[in-house]
Amino acid sequence: MDSSLSKGAKDFIDDNRIFESLSQKEDAGKVAEVLAKSMEKKPLTLDETAALLVVKSPRLSDMIFEAARKLKRDVYGNRIVLFAPLYIGNHCVNDCSYCGFRRSLKTTLRRTLGREELINEVKELEREGHKRLILVYGESPEYSPEFIARTVETVYATKEGHGEIRRVNINAAPLDIAGFKTVKAAGIGTYQVFQETYHRESYALYHPARTPKGDYMWRLDAMDRAFEAGCDDMGIGALFGLYDWKFEVMGLVSHALHLQGRFGVGPHTISFPRIQPANGLDLNLAWQVSDEDFKHLVAVLRLAVPYTGLIMTAREKAEVRNEVMQFGVSQIDAGTRLEIGAYHEKGAISDVQKLEKEQFRISDNRTLDDTMRWLIEQKFIPSFCTSCYRVGRTGEHFMEYAIPGFIGKFCTPNALMTLAEYLKDYASPATREAGRKLIAEELAAMPDDHLKRQLEERLADLAENDTRDRLF
Ligand code: SAM
Ligand code: SF4
Repeated sequence: MDSSLSKGAKDFIDDNRIFESLSQKEDAGKVAEVLAKSMEKKPLTLDETAALLVVKSPRLSDMIFEAARKLKRDVYGNRIVLFAPLYIGNHCVNDCSYCGFRRSLKTTLRRTLGREELINEVKELEREGHKRLILVYGESPEYSPEFIARTVETVYATKEGHGEIRRVNINAAPLDIAGFKTVKAAGIGTYQVFQETYHRESYALYHPARTPKGDYMWRLDAMDRAFEAGCDDMGIGALFGLYDWKFEVMGLVSHALHLQGRFGVGPHTISFPRIQPANGLDLNLAWQVSDEDFKHLVAVLRLAVPYTGLIMTAREKAEVRNEVMQFGVSQIDAGTRLEIGAYHEKGAISDVQKLEKEQFRISDNRTLDDTMRWLIEQKFIPSFCTSCYRVGRTGEHFMEYAIPGFIGKFCTPNALMTLAEYLKDYASPATREAGRKLIAEELAAMPDDHLKRQLEERLADLAENDTRDRLF
């Protein structure tokens, strides 16, 4: 591994500036101005983000939620993109004190999926109807860039019936530039890695200096190296509960502004997991984030980075997912299993056994089909669309396309096509019925033009001739 940072690497987290911005008092006039700027879909500065973070009064909070809800509808429409995580291996050289995979934990069952096991996992996910996966790895010499690339290629090559995985994202330890080139060549979608906490002192507390992850700057610079290696599709995140949530939001926004400023492309997604129970986890979580604060932080992120997708995982309970989805989230996982091998080795196992295999505990255990029906019943269009990446609309091009009209022209029709495929191939009768009704309603609401006719033709072609994967 080459330990060089990216050319011109910079520590762009300015603690003093963040603390100073966060010391401002709630100001109704300023909040109104900032919200007006957000409504024009302009990214917020750090100071403007802080003005929303310090809000406490219910009236101003409601204004923030309302604005986030509207912005989400305007930029992302009513689609929610679905994916599943697939854990490849939990060997780990690091010792992050919040994680069930940390190396000092002797009770964790260590395992790496072999090629056949991986194929069986993917086939099972395809049989459920998944089209988008994120592969997750511990940090270990075993999980070299070449190993990661091989697993990505295996996933793409595995097909079951009409099933195929059309997009493989990865969540893996930061690589060097050559490593990023290797995984890019395997066709990864988003490269995702979380800074965990942007606050240096807290970072040092949870990530021992003697471990690779103990190097704050190596991790902070990961996206810059990825970009230098030609990856322009990046997912950043923070693990909420390690330090003050307001600081972490400022860290995430600083990161997004830095990438946008340096490369002209912001992160594609932001994740904001809250710490969950894990094997042997005995943390004194002084910074645990309440549900109220969690909603607030998602709404502020939505407003601060209007074109960045927000990912919420099954770490959150269904009730929280229901609510937060309305004002910010664009992607969720569904049917998630975190135990390695669990998608195809379905047997009942005890809770203790589960924790010994999982990285942490999830709270939303609904199946993909249940999640689909629940989204449909709330008038969201569940989407498996992977069109942009596959026709080259990524990075700065994606930003260009995130303009009025784009959603109606590409995203909604693609979402409806992928929903129709799911209904035909995998849905339960109840989900099929609900889904077909939603498609009819969406078609009825579309202006009667060329696009609508094209969509109707393709839907008929799918129903009658089984023609799939036709992209808008
Ligand atoms: N090993 C790589 C790394 O640390 O970047 C990638 C995989 S790690 C398995 C994925 C993410 O899971 C971590 O970045 C961390 O934010 C999250 N995580 C770890 N322990 C967690 C816990 N107890 N609750 C919620 N999320 C956790
Ligand atoms: Fe290893 Fe990642 Fe868990 Fe840390 S968070 S112990 S690096 S798997």
